[in-house]
Amino acid sequence: MKHLLKETMKKIPLLSGIFLGFARRLDYKTLSRYMLKINEQKQLSAILKEASRCLKDILNYNLFAFALQDEDKLEVWIDPKVYKQAVRKVIEQDFNVKGFSNFHPIYDDTGPHVRTVTFHSTDLISYVMMDGKYFAKLYLLPDRKLFIYHNEIINIIVKSLGISLTNYMNIKRLENAAAFDPMTNCYNRREFERLIEHSIANANRYGRDLSVIMFDLDHFKGVNDKYGHLVGDTVLKNICQAIHSKIRRGDYLARYGGEEFVIVLPDTKRPRAMELAERLKQVIENLTTEARDGKTIKITASFGVAALKRNSDKIRLLKEADNMLYKAKAGGRNMVMPKMRLLNTQS
Ligand code: GH3
Ligand code: MG
Ligand code: MG
Repeated sequence: MKHLLKETMKKIPLLSGIFLGFARRLDYKTLSRYMLKINEQKQLSAILKEASRCLKDILNYNLFAFALQDEDKLEVWIDPKVYKQAVRKVIEQDFNVKGFSNFHPIYDDTGPHVRTVTFHSTDLISYVMMDGKYFAKLYLLPDRKLFIYHNEIINIIVKSLGISLTNYMNIKRLENAAAFDPMTNCYNRREFERLIEHSIANANRYGRDLSVIMFDLDHFKGVNDKYGHLVGDTVLKNICQAIHSKIRRGDYLARYGGEEFVIVLPDTKRPRAMELAERLKQVIENLTTEARDGKTIKITASFGVAALKRNSDKIRLLKEADNMLYKAKAGGRNMVMPKMRLLNTQS
C-alpha cells in the first residue's frame, strides 16, 4: 500500500496537470486520502462505499457494480439506481453462472427520487481484481469518452481497491480457518463455545427461547473399520451437508467432538426442537454414501434435545442435552430423547 501510494504521488503532479481540463479538481491530497480511507475499512461493503465515493468525487463516475467470486460463492454489489436485470445478464455471462440472488446495494439511496439507469452492456467498462483464489470485477458506466489519463487514474483507484480486497479476503480466510472445521464445514468446538455463550446471553437478556440438539453417529467406528477412514470422512461430510440444508438461517451446526455434533436453535422451544431432531434422524437414516465396489453405506444417529431454562447457563444446558443423548444410546440408538410421548406426560 505504501509503495502504491509513493508511486501514485510521483505520478500525481503530472496527472493532475492533465486532469485539470476534465475533472472538477483533482488534487493529490484528496486522492491519497481516499486511498488510505479505502485501505482502512474492515468490511467489504465499507471498502466499496469508499471506492464509490472516490470515483464519484474525483472522476464524477458512479461505481456501477462489483462482483466477487470466492470459491463457489458469487456476491454482487450494485448501485441502487441500476436496473438489476441488466447487470445480472452481464455478470452471468462474465462469471459463467446462472441465477444468483446475492445482490447488495453499494449505498443506501433507494428513495422515490432515484432514477433507474438503463444502459447497453457494451457501454460498461470493467476492471479485474484477483489473487488466485478470488476473482472480482468492477463495472463502471462512463458518461463520456474515456481518455488514457482517465484510465490511468481509475487504474490507481482500482489497484488500491484490489489491495484492500486482498487484505480483506486474507483476514476473512484466517477468521474462517479459525472458526470452521475444514472437513465438515461446521463451526469448530472453540467457535461453538464462543457463539453459544453469546446466544444464551441474548436469550436470557430478552427472555427468548433457545434449544439445542446434540447428536452422535451410531457405531461409526464400525464404518471406519469396514470401509476405511476416507469413506468415514465422506459419510461425515454428507451428513453435515444434509443437516445444513435442513436448518434455518439463524440456527447453527457445530462439530462438538469426532462424530458428535450440536445444533443451536435460537427462538425455539423444546417440542419444536424435538420435531426437528426427529426429521434429522430420518434424514440421516435415509442418506446413503457410496463406498468402493458400488456398495452403499447407511448409518443412523442418536439425538439428545434440551431447552434453556430461565436464566440457566451453557454448562447446565449442554449437560442436559448430553444426558438425553446418553439415554438415546442406552435406549437402543437411532432415536431422539426425550421422546414426544414422555414430554407430553411430563408437561
Ligand atoms: P456409538 O454408537 O456408541 O457412538 O459407537 P461409535 O462407534 O460411533 O463410537 P466410538 O466412540 O467407539 O467411535 C467413534 C469413532 O468415530 C471412532 C473414531 O475413529 C471415529 N471418528 C471420529 N472422528 C472422525 C473423523 O474425522 N473421520 C473418521 N473417518 N472417523 C472419525
Ligand atoms: Mg458414535
Ligand atoms: Mg462419539
